[in-house]
Amino acid sequence: MDTTDSWLLSRVGARLLSAGAGGVAGWLIGDRMGYPGTMCAVGAMSSVLVISVVDTLRGHRLLDWLRVPEGVAPTLPGMWGELAHRMQRVLQLREMATNQERDRLAQFLAAIDASPNGVMLLDASDHIDWISSAAADHFGLNQHRDIQQRVTNLVRQPAFVEYLSNGNFAEPLKCPMGHGSKNCLQVYVRPYGDGLKLVLSQDITERERADTMRSDFVANVSHEIRTPLTVLAGFIETMATLPLTEAERARVLSLMSQQAERMQHLVSDLLTLAQIEGSPRPPSHNWTGVSKLLDRIENDAQGLSRGRHTVVFNLPQPCKLCEISGVESEWLSAMGNLVSNAIRYTPEGGAITVSWSSTPDGSAEFSVRDTGPGIAAEHLPRLTERFYRADGSRSRDTGGTGLGLSIVKHVIQRHGGELRITSEVGKGSNFTLHVPASRVRYGTPA
Ligand code: ADP
Repeated sequence: MDTTDSWLLSRVGARLLSAGAGGVAGWLIGDRMGYPGTMCAVGAMSSVLVISVVDTLRGHRLLDWLRVPEGVAPTLPGMWGELAHRMQRVLQLREMATNQERDRLAQFLAAIDASPNGVMLLDASDHIDWISSAAADHFGLNQHRDIQQRVTNLVRQPAFVEYLSNGNFAEPLKCPMGHGSKNCLQVYVRPYGDGLKLVLSQDITERERADTMRSDFVANVSHEIRTPLTVLAGFIETMATLPLTEAERARVLSLMSQQAERMQHLVSDLLTLAQIEGSPRPPSHNWTGVSKLLDRIENDAQGLSRGRHTVVFNLPQPCKLCEISGVESEWLSAMGNLVSNAIRYTPEGGAITVSWSSTPDGSAEFSVRDTGPGIAAEHLPRLTERFYRADGSRSRDTGGTGLGLSIVKHVIQRHGGELRITSEVGKGSNFTLHVPASRVRYGTPA
């Protein structure tokens, strides 16, 4: 016999006992009155009646509480009390389980909400059931206010509305983001359940930009290589088919060598760019003397100018011991490119001033000033783009590849610095490399 049975038996026993007690009391009273049997029955029935009325009242109290089971269960004696206590316990356990489930769901949704990709759940009639903050941002929706709204009433991009109504979700959709933004969105829809939809969105603006840059780059490189190749092919054909004088032959060969050199420069600049882009952050403990760097750049500059310009290098006495850290070949390439540009773009008779100076906060500046043609303001923001030329014909005539300033910008950024350009048409340009204090130090005299 288990505890429930023994409990039941004891309750039934108690009821029988009180009925029996009522019966005995009735019998004793009835015995004096001469009706012991009748009074015994009346006593037993009264006692059962009283117990039933009390039970009904207690049952009602419990039922009242159960209708809206808030707060503590009513305190009742005996069986009803135990019943109330056990019911409250069951309800508490169920509430705890529900709370745990709710917390788990909230955590799960918070994790989805933390994703940079958007998630939106639609019901069978495309009403929004739930939307993550990224998706709200992507589609220009309000994460709380727009719940239960039909998504196509809010997102009115024709491409999106058509995609959703077509029901063909084999391929993702590319469309502009909300708020009239120029950013690009990739949207996947996955149907599930009974007509429900999972909408996933991803901001692919950067990827698209990179793809466009890559294809533009390939097109530019092909174009830059094709031009000298076509010229070379023409000269080869001329030499092969036409009888040339010695002078003509020498001229054609010189032009051919110019074109070959142009291709060599292009390939070399492309390799430099690729190498810079693919290599790790420059070390901070590799120190190079600025004086030594400037000497080499000055030598190259004088050779390139061949006396056609006034080229001045200013390295103040206190800076002679200055050293910079990073990759020496990259510093040479960046500084050399700025100086060679100044010489190439400045007409004969112009002046080029190259200076190194230190600033009070410990950083340093390398600047190249020329008295060349200057650059119109609208070109300045784009000068460091690959193959961007403000003056295409002059660049090509002087052997420019259109990659020099791209290399400069990459190098200085990798070393934590900055390239600043100021220019005035007709007066000249000033290109400055700002080298951060962390990459500048002053050595001790030998
Ligand atoms: P490029 O090989 O054509 O010189 P760069 O990337 O070095 O390529 O320079 C980009 C463009 O910036 C050049 O085509 C030129 O139009 C302009 N530029 C650069 N430096 C100067 C300068 N010192 N004076 C005038 N224009 C310049």
